[in-house]
Amino acid sequence: MTTTTRVNGVVHVDSACVQCLTPFSDSSMDHQVIRNRLMNLSDESNPRASNPDDRIERVTAILRDAPSGQFFTIDVTVDSADQCRSYWHALDPAGYPNAVIMAYVHTHPQYLNERFRCKEPGTSTDGRGGGSDLDWRGMRSLYRLPQYRDIFKPVFYVLANDFVYKLDPSKKRGVDRRPILRWDKGVCKWVRFVAT
Ligand SMILES: [Zn+2]
Repeated sequence: MTTTTRVNGVVHVDSACVQCLTPFSDSSMDHQVIRNRLMNLSDESNPRASNPDDRIERVTAILRDAPSGQFFTIDVTVDSADQCRSYWHALDPAGYPNAVIMAYVHTHPQYLNERFRCKEPGTSTDGRGGGSDLDWRGMRSLYRLPQYRDIFKPVFYVLANDFVYKLDPSKKRGVDRRPILRWDKGVCKWVRFVAT
């Protein structure tokens, strides 16, 4: 399927679904195999379902084979997920001795400024996009795991309907600050569903 979008007067087709803005040092998303998986990951989330209850977060990992330099993805084990949360297991790096775990990507099947109730009682989206408090905490907990302590630290990406957000582990500012959410956004623009 080919879709066409218009961004800043420029028409993009499906193959240019992730438009990375400079500066962007993580070239993994420039690879077609990764972009294809991200497109599918997004589709599997039913990101545009009119009833948000029909949407669901999906998760994958991006790895790079060290000898060949090739990127590939591995879908992680997800215990449960709904439209606002996903409970998933990080890969054990020991299981991929020839690869580097570059990133974890999970979807937020929502648009910027979209607000709806989550299944978890008393919770809702705040419309701000990007990684949630739980995402940031999860990333930092991951880094403290013994099997992750001394290796390359994978970054977290949040794949929303209209943007890809990067949680930059080097950014400590605001970690314990409220209210609620901190963003590092605008690394890549997810142009796929942008209205023309
Ligand atoms: Zn999240």
